Amino acid sequence: MLNVLTVPAFQDNYLWLIHDGARAAVVDPGDAAPILAALADNGLALAAILLTHHHADHVGGVPALLARFPVPVFGPRGDGIAQVTVPLGEGDTARIPELGLAMQVIDVPGHTRGHIAYYSPENHWLFCGDTLFAGGCGRLFEGTPEQMVNSLDKLATLPEQTQIFCAHEYTLANLRFANEIEPDNIQLKSRIRHEQSKRDQGTPTVPSTIGLEKATNPFLRFREPDVAERLMQRGIISTGEPIAVFAALREWKNSYR
Ligand code: ZN
Ligand code: FE
Repeated sequence: MLNVLTVPAFQDNYLWLIHDGARAAVVDPGDAAPILAALADNGLALAAILLTHHHADHVGGVPALLARFPVPVFGPRGDGIAQVTVPLGEGDTARIPELGLAMQVIDVPGHTRGHIAYYSPENHWLFCGDTLFAGGCGRLFEGTPEQMVNSLDKLATLPEQTQIFCAHEYTLANLRFANEIEPDNIQLKSRIRHEQSKRDQGTPTVPSTIGLEKATNPFLRFREPDVAERLMQRGIISTGEPIAVFAALREWKNSYR
């Protein structure tokens, strides 16, 4: 039986430890200190490192972890991460025999060129780094709107109960923007209340689920006529063409406060 431990880091990052009570794989260790502390607190030995993309808040802790645990480093083939020992791309499987875990690799370019996600069908887990967020999506640092749409479309086809382990607690800010886009979305209203109460109690809003994201996340809902309508009313776009709608949403979110 595997579990996922949430390890907060920096301001708003989540690092993930997948473990069986004895051994663990870490996803996106931007910082080694909180991971080493969590391993010690829970009596876990590190068996593998899994990386989604090259940004420092996702890979910064790798050298210090390798110094303590000489383990394989799984990561994207195309994102230029020097420490990766098992390069992966779409269709590959990340196998961690110590945990009896095999995760499917999905290419999700957009935030970075080579960004990948890890999907465990047995456990209904998706580790998607900075691609799909609870209520939002990652910024387009290296990719195009077309690429991000294609990446998010792939994730949206996963079963509704799939749990979304994204790498940041951005949920309330994302949902405030979502509410600007879809003020009449009833499920969004109730989600905002629910997530706000979690934050009031200091509880993470992550993981989310694919089902909840499809019902409330504007970056999965840009094909809804109401969303295009809203942007056209504001004079932000003149056509309801889906990629144009997505691109306009992403642009607006970049400056939304
Ligand atoms: Zn990033
Ligand atoms: Fe990040």
